[in-house]
Amino acid sequence: MPVSHVPPEFVEMEISDLPVPSDETPPEGSVAVVAHAAAGVPADLAAQHASRGRLAHWKHEFARRAGVPLNRLFGGRLQNAFGILMYHRVTNPVPDLPEPTFNVTPERFREQLSGLLARGFIAWPLRLVLETSLRGRQVPREVFVVTFDDGYENVYQHAWPVLRDLGIPATIFVSTAYLDSPEPFPFDNWAGKGSAAAPAESWRPLTTAQCRQMHASGLIELATHTHTHADFRNRPNELASDLETSLEVLRDRFGISNSTFAFPYGTKKAGFSGPVLSEACRKVGLLCSLTTEQELTFSGTDPFDWGRFEAESNDTAETLAAKLNGWYSLLRGAWRRMRHPFQSAPKPAPRRVVTAATLSRRAT
Ligand SMILES: [Zn+2]
Repeated sequence: MPVSHVPPEFVEMEISDLPVPSDETPPEGSVAVVAHAAAGVPADLAAQHASRGRLAHWKHEFARRAGVPLNRLFGGRLQNAFGILMYHRVTNPVPDLPEPTFNVTPERFREQLSGLLARGFIAWPLRLVLETSLRGRQVPREVFVVTFDDGYENVYQHAWPVLRDLGIPATIFVSTAYLDSPEPFPFDNWAGKGSAAAPAESWRPLTTAQCRQMHASGLIELATHTHTHADFRNRPNELASDLETSLEVLRDRFGISNSTFAFPYGTKKAGFSGPVLSEACRKVGLLCSLTTEQELTFSGTDPFDWGRFEAESNDTAETLAAKLNGWYSLLRGAWRRMRHPFQSAPKPAPRRVVTAATLSRRAT
């Protein structure tokens, strides 16, 4: 069984709480460069997290739980905002193995989504919110979007049947280099990955055939999550060339002529997303670049800077509703606002490089 090189602290890590890295390009042979070459989890993420894990976890749990009564009392906070959810793995725990990381069980997944629908939320495809926003219209605040990162086989096995049952569209951001691979993703930080005791679908990447089947259904959008899922901090040119390769795979195998995108690791503070990398995404013709910043999305703002809320194993429909209604980010942002009381409003879209017409040209 392959041994995970990621310390257990990383299992509970919250990427958005990582410290800001240096702006300088790491010298050859440094941790970041080695991680890039191996496309594994950047080693400095785990090391940086170790010193701040508990406080970050406490703040996160406080905001997650305290949002529920506020949401019950007051409902949605902002009229012109909606939320995008981020999932990774949807599988069952395996006896005698550590809990799968970044996972929601299939049963919990169904409860979360059906519970949101029962509370009046409406699921829209990512492309529809992009198109609506780019046309200058307001996305209703009941709207939420479902996305998956990486492209685990369990999304096909466990999530897709639930999505079909509930009629919920979703986008899968696939790291295309690993399609059809019998090996675990090199960046998967679950210690149980590749174990004989674990069902292969709990860690294995999607196959091309599975992707084709989901894409053909019309309910699932396939999109890029880069080709290699490497560490592209301070490396916009490398990101662009990796994305070109990924877009080629999407075009050749699935006939996808334009793609949405979510940054691997995705946090701004740690440098995994931001204006320089977003610019590289615009240049290669992507339709958006989503981060992992847990914040609401505002109609009319730049889709190359939209965040997403992580849907976690212990989230209920009620805690997710509180996230989608803005309470989680309000509580998480309280400390930041105390330090920066005059923080500016969300930025409008600077340039409409992507047009609604481009979006409508659905791949065949
Ligand atoms: Zn990822």
